[in-house]
Amino acid sequence: MNEGLVKYCLDMPAVLSPAYREACLWQEQVPRERRSVEDVPDSVDVVVIGAGYCGLNAAATVAAAGASVVVLDKEPLGWGASSRNGGMVIPELKSSPAALVKKIGPLGAQLYAEVEQAFEHTEALTRQIDCDYERSGQLYLAHSKHHTAELQELSGQLQGVHFLSRSQVRERIGSDAFDSAVFFEKVGGLHPAKYHDGLAKRAENAGAQIRDRTAAVAVHRHGAGFRVDTTRGSVGAGQVIVATNAYMDAAVPELARRVLPINSYIIATQPLSQEQQAIIGKQMMVDTKNLLFYWRLTPDGRMAFGGRNRLDPVDIPTAREFLYDNMVRIHPQLRGIGVEYAWTGYVAMTLDRLPHVGTVDGAWYATGCNGTGVSLNGWLGHRLGQVVTGQAAPPAFAELPHKPIPLRTITSSYLPFVGRYFALQDRR
Ligand SMILES: Cc1cc2nc3c(=O)[nH]c(=O)nc-3n(C[C@H](O)[C@H](O)[C@H](O)COP(=O)(O)OP(=O)(O)OC[C@H]3O[C@@H](n4cnc5c(N)ncnc54)[C@H](O)[C@@H]3O)c2cc1C
Repeated sequence: MNEGLVKYCLDMPAVLSPAYREACLWQEQVPRERRSVEDVPDSVDVVVIGAGYCGLNAAATVAAAGASVVVLDKEPLGWGASSRNGGMVIPELKSSPAALVKKIGPLGAQLYAEVEQAFEHTEALTRQIDCDYERSGQLYLAHSKHHTAELQELSGQLQGVHFLSRSQVRERIGSDAFDSAVFFEKVGGLHPAKYHDGLAKRAENAGAQIRDRTAAVAVHRHGAGFRVDTTRGSVGAGQVIVATNAYMDAAVPELARRVLPINSYIIATQPLSQEQQAIIGKQMMVDTKNLLFYWRLTPDGRMAFGGRNRLDPVDIPTAREFLYDNMVRIHPQLRGIGVEYAWTGYVAMTLDRLPHVGTVDGAWYATGCNGTGVSLNGWLGHRLGQVVTGQAAPPAFAELPHKPIPLRTITSSYLPFVGRYFALQDRR
């Protein structure tokens, strides 16, 4: 195809399925009964704020230790990032193990050891929860020649990581859009909302109480413990765990200064034919850009394609068009397949692009997934459950200094410029 024709085709509006809706595929596939709304108990041993993977893991661990615990969520259960993500279970941080050790010293190796423990914890949970988990591996794809040397080096440093040339990539996923790739054996994919639903049931079975549509509005020190004011009364607690990740709000203002919520968008197509699925394969896929794309086949055979092209928010139709253009650029065989779902959610960015654990006025928190929290945020919740019940010392992530984001209150004015800078770097 000549360049003009390629450009014309890429500028075509996305094909939409007759059933197209701006909704999250996973959430629609796991309908939940609306829970009755009750006031919060007068007092418990532990209050957990946020009922995603982190909060539910924390609650299950606290309850299993015999302590009383209530988990609050300001939205209906299953609304947050934990039910709207890409479902990729990845033992990674933004820097490679070697780069992290170079940057922060031996603590970097400890953090990676915990990332591995998180992956094992998550896989163990997927054996108890019916969530379509499969250890399918992941392709990390070089979007330009510039990144090939880096990928070659990575495959030399790590076990279970294999380098693939351009022609091997083409053979593997039927795409000529990448200069090379590495294949990580130790990555899996799950159905995010099924997994979340299973974690909620597991926490309740262990004895935790869940109160959704109940926002924490303030956390105060009270005697040796806390009082948490909510939209449904006030609850006393010996300990508090804040598990709000990118959805933090004024309930804990100090935390809100340290995390930046950034939208990530996903489209999901109609189910593909068996032949189309076989060409693309079951592995998870991510490219090497700053403003990266991530994509995979869903358990029911659709293409789910996610990413963003800027850091400041756009509306869903705008994101959908951009994602569709890039999906068919990478997999031209999908041209003409209708988009059936498009949605968004927040990921939590931090200044050093690392997750953080710490305390604010004595309340523990875990936050800052930086886009990869399916495995790690759940495990950090479990670890905080151990910490507040005196079963274990805090994880090594608590040793990282957690700095506030500069000029946090005016981020909306400088985000477009940072986004443009990232996009410029991605042209390399
Ligand atoms: C589109 C998208 C794609 C992603 N893809 C991947 C992926 O493929 N792999 C991966 O590893 N990670 C991915 N992530 C990141 C991952 O989803 C998150 O890291 C993870 O779900 C965070 O879990 P959590 O429990 O910490 O937070 P959440 O699931 O976001 O839960 C936080 C909860 O806190 C609640 N809350 C906030 N404030 C209050 C308050 N004051 N009172 C009560 N409740 C409150 C919110 O309502 C929310 O439900 C993706 C994220 C998005 C948005």
